[in-house]
Amino acid sequence: MKSITERLTGPEMIVYAAKYMFDRFMTDAAGGNISLKEGETVYFSPTLAGATYHWNIGVEDVVSGSVNDFSSLMKHPRFTREGLSHVAIYKAFPFVQSIVHAHPKYLFPFIAGSKPLPAILNSSNIFGTLQYHKEAPPYSQEQADDIVRIMKTQEDLIKTKAAAVLMPKHGVILASASDMMVSLDCLERINNNAFAVLASKLID
Ligand SMILES: [Zn+2]
Repeated sequence: MKSITERLTGPEMIVYAAKYMFDRFMTDAAGGNISLKEGETVYFSPTLAGATYHWNIGVEDVVSGSVNDFSSLMKHPRFTREGLSHVAIYKAFPFVQSIVHAHPKYLFPFIAGSKPLPAILNSSNIFGTLQYHKEAPPYSQEQADDIVRIMKTQEDLIKTKAAAVLMPKHGVILASASDMMVSLDCLERINNNAFAVLASKLID
């Protein structure tokens, strides 16, 4: 039996991942973006995929370009406004294969006040307590550079699973040397762990 990755082309995987994230409250209509590499080609979800399409995009909406020419890709009229960080990560870590930026529902109470998000479930132990990037204008090079700075301290994690960085008052971004399925898996682990931290306070 073929895995989902084996069954889908790169653009089809972007379409699949978009719907999966939105259906499971791992991102919202306000934003997020996803990208993956397939050989020398990189595929991105289009700008405003949430607000305009409720993440119900088709393969014809996926934006693509060459990993050797990010500047042309970034001039595409539908290049995602949050794509600068993706490009910075791909340039800094050529082995990265998939990147997800999302606005997961259960992270909001933590990121609203930059509160620590400890790992309390076995499934998220590998990530430890996630770090926040410095306050920086959204979509700025400054923001992208600080995400890369933190990820440089987590290269092993990028290679074994995925490294995640929390974005103050905004969301999360994670990068993996593995395929999109691994990035989605890690995103869900982080979101569920956040729910567990919140909900566990109701039990005692
Ligand atoms: Zn965002």
